[in-house]
Amino acid sequence: MAKDYYEILGVERNASPEDIKSSYKDLAFKYHPDRNPDDDNAEEKFKEINEAYQVLNDTDKRARYDSFGHMSGDGMGGFSGFGDIFGDLFDDVFTGGMGRSRARQGQNLQYNLEVDFDEAAFGTQKEIKIRKRKLCDDCSGSGAAVGGESICDRCGGRGSVAFSQGPFSISQGCPSCGGSGKIITNPCKSCRGSGLLHTEKAVKVNIPAGISSGMRLVIRGEGEPGPQGGLPGDLYIQVGVKEHPIFRRDGNDIVCEFPISFTQAALGDEVDVPILKGTNKMKIPAGTQPGQTFRLRGKGLVNVESGSLGDQYVVVKVVIPQKLTKKQREALMEFAGSYNGKKEPLIEKYFNKIKELIH
Ligand SMILES: [Zn+2]
Ligand SMILES: [Zn+2]
Repeated sequence: MAKDYYEILGVERNASPEDIKSSYKDLAFKYHPDRNPDDDNAEEKFKEINEAYQVLNDTDKRARYDSFGHMSGDGMGGFSGFGDIFGDLFDDVFTGGMGRSRARQGQNLQYNLEVDFDEAAFGTQKEIKIRKRKLCDDCSGSGAAVGGESICDRCGGRGSVAFSQGPFSISQGCPSCGGSGKIITNPCKSCRGSGLLHTEKAVKVNIPAGISSGMRLVIRGEGEPGPQGGLPGDLYIQVGVKEHPIFRRDGNDIVCEFPISFTQAALGDEVDVPILKGTNKMKIPAGTQPGQTFRLRGKGLVNVESGSLGDQYVVVKVVIPQKLTKKQREALMEFAGSYNGKKEPLIEKYFNKIKELIH
């Protein structure tokens, strides 16, 4: 069961750092083991509160927690086992030593995968290499050499022990065998008793078309193996999409600038605009203004959930020549003269407005 740190501290998800701190102080005071010497639940609660506060009180950790949630399969490690999120995996997964009574699920793994803009647009299959641990072949994960295992004396092999607290009998994981019911007397040489070996595994990842930066894919069961017969954890693929030299993404729409000459803008033209695959004809109407935007319907990205297509927006950039030949200059002088001292209507409009403001 994944614990919700916000719930543990009794604050809203958008709580301010002050609120978190104040709520933490109250709870830590209430559940402090010194104030509750005979209450194991209070101690557990106190640990939980501290764990939650360590994450939510740290801006970076809190942001990561908000984005990815717990990265711990058994709900314990939280960020202590989270490690670096750059494909590097957890090392101290099984050293938590919390004496649990059930077979734990293996640790979840996190891998950051960068894909090209086009790969995200059309989908692809990538092969990644993850470092993780696998069950030791020689001992099948038990950690014991052949015959090197005996039934735990303390729990008689049940994996749990009962103790009484007031009128109640409480069962908890056996602290001697960690809940496995067995004690290793002669550890397996290959894995030195851990039951696990380091390995590198190639995993194929299907990138669906339309995926965007920040989306997370899950491959169930591709995390670390579960100790003591527990289920394996999951592999989380955090996807980052590289920038495109021309296209910018806006949800499922794409936006690009497109340069045209000032004569094309004035006279109109038909142009070939780059789209995700190839080019598309687009009409530039006479009198097009700089920054004017045209839409190419359905030329955007596919929505990864609904399958619907976004659009492409083309923002026209009117280019003014930086150098003129003598002939071009003469032609333009002649053009300028053709106004006979009058202003271009759009400019005229502006100056009329100014006049109104001044008087
Ligand atoms: Zn035991
Ligand atoms: Zn082994």
